[in-house]
Amino acid sequence: MRRTLARPAALEGIGLHLGVPCRLTFQPALAKQGIVFRRTDRPGLPRIRAHVSEVSGSERRTQLGKGDCAVHTVEHVLAAVTGMGIDDVTIDMDGPEPPILDGSAAPFLAALSDAGLASVDGEPDFLDLSEPVRIIDGASVYEAYPAARLELDVTIEFPHPLIGKQSRRFTVTEESFASELSRARTFGFVHEVDALRAKGLIKGASLDNAVVLDDSDILSGDLRWADEFVRHKAMDCVGDLALAGARVRARIVAMKPSHRGTVTL
Ligand SMILES: [Zn+2]
Repeated sequence: MRRTLARPAALEGIGLHLGVPCRLTFQPALAKQGIVFRRTDRPGLPRIRAHVSEVSGSERRTQLGKGDCAVHTVEHVLAAVTGMGIDDVTIDMDGPEPPILDGSAAPFLAALSDAGLASVDGEPDFLDLSEPVRIIDGASVYEAYPAARLELDVTIEFPHPLIGKQSRRFTVTEESFASELSRARTFGFVHEVDALRAKGLIKGASLDNAVVLDDSDILSGDLRWADEFVRHKAMDCVGDLALAGARVRARIVAMKPSHRGTVTL
């Protein structure tokens, strides 16, 4: 059976990049609708399907839709939705970007868990590979192989003494998503702040909603895991893969994944 929510669930806060307040409400949806965002602050309540065809930006975050009606930085919300195996949901937003909250997918997952799941008619849509695929996008390299479920093998490398090279392999199930991935927070470097702000990004970032690093240390308190960084990148991959519009069944080896690279895949 396909899954939606049993009742609505709402969260609010400011967005990471635009720094604008937003109330986000997950709404139960009819069978076969898929995952759809709706801008409730815009005339006509424009709807944007969570689908790769709607991607309009992928630098440092994943943006869907156009101009005034776009939704920005949707990857953590989408990760929580697909991490719970939800097929059909409407995600109402009264602003352009979901709240960043603690920088992870955990608050969204908690809200969805509190609301509870409901079955709707029909079988989930699956995306299966018929043959291996390899793509290279800048520094990102992806290999994807046919598999019975979603397996992620993610490697990141940052020239920072507390990150370095981290690799981790996950079989993505509801249980492993909740326990191993959902709590991993986004991260950023002090030396990038000025350049990103100049591009209009990270206006809402703070020590409370991201792991912030200077050249040698972490400024935002203890990590949740020593390899929280690679876990977060794997969580971002789960969110971006939701844009397939179906549950992806593949073994994906991702070296230095990026939002743009995962969207391309
Ligand atoms: Zn992220």
